[in-house]
Amino acid sequence: MAKFQLTKARQHGERVAAEKGYTAFPVNPFAIAESEGILIVPKPAEIKGVSGGIIFDEDVPSIFYATHIESEGFQRFTVAHELGHYFLDGHPEEILKSAKMHVSRAGFRQGDNSIELEADHFASGLLMPTQLVKKELTCGVIGLAGVEQLANRSQCSFTAAAIRAAECSPYPMAIVVSQGSDVCYCFMSEGFKGLGKPLTFLRKGSPLPLSATRDFNSDSNNVRYGKRQTTETTLADWFDGSKQIRLDEEIVGLGSFGCTLTVFSSDALAEDHADEDADEEANLIESYTPKFAYGR
Ligand SMILES: [Zn+2]
Repeated sequence: MAKFQLTKARQHGERVAAEKGYTAFPVNPFAIAESEGILIVPKPAEIKGVSGGIIFDEDVPSIFYATHIESEGFQRFTVAHELGHYFLDGHPEEILKSAKMHVSRAGFRQGDNSIELEADHFASGLLMPTQLVKKELTCGVIGLAGVEQLANRSQCSFTAAAIRAAECSPYPMAIVVSQGSDVCYCFMSEGFKGLGKPLTFLRKGSPLPLSATRDFNSDSNNVRYGKRQTTETTLADWFDGSKQIRLDEEIVGLGSFGCTLTVFSSDALAEDHADEDADEEANLIESYTPKFAYGR
């Protein structure tokens, strides 16, 4: 699926959050559904793997969501995903073409080639609009702690918050979600991509480099019980960049999902970046000054 379509879906989600008046976290997808006259039905899951669905064939559309996973963040993401099917162009038509009810498996499973991915991106934009995420991340808490704070404030899952943090981060940051010895997915912030060119992009299914994360994953109890570990690594060890660039490798087990989140960042890089921003601003002022002087 074209990347711009996913970006469009995410921006649509952000627009809906703004239109509904959200200028601070948390965005409430249940209240948004209600304001559209959509019925919300909590349901024990009958089919394993189903996170929720939307039904269009009655007088009012209704959204149901599975309650077997007790994470509130997951349930909110599921409802936001279903709202994507309601708001995004072509989704209701696409769903009505095949059946009147659509069943979703929400949660950023890369490789899906369907309206599911679009709805996931809509949900992440709705619950974590770029402006709100940026504001949160410039509060000074970086790395895993920053992700955690964003997850708490936005009431989203660790993983969803980590992805958005890497997408919007004002300082260099990357995240890798892994399982066993394999990469599930990787996101890098723009600043991180700029740390060296071209950095190796860790694709889905590629093996994890020999690292603390890989060792961590070799004991399934680390993952299951949500253990944490912080160590130091370099850009060379993970992304084939410079050995001189040191990074914190912060690892956390994601519990019952069987995956591990690793966050890469560093205080030094975050500070450098803050200086850069200040410099840019200074340059901008300088470059305007002469013109202004000449114009007088
Ligand atoms: Zn869906």
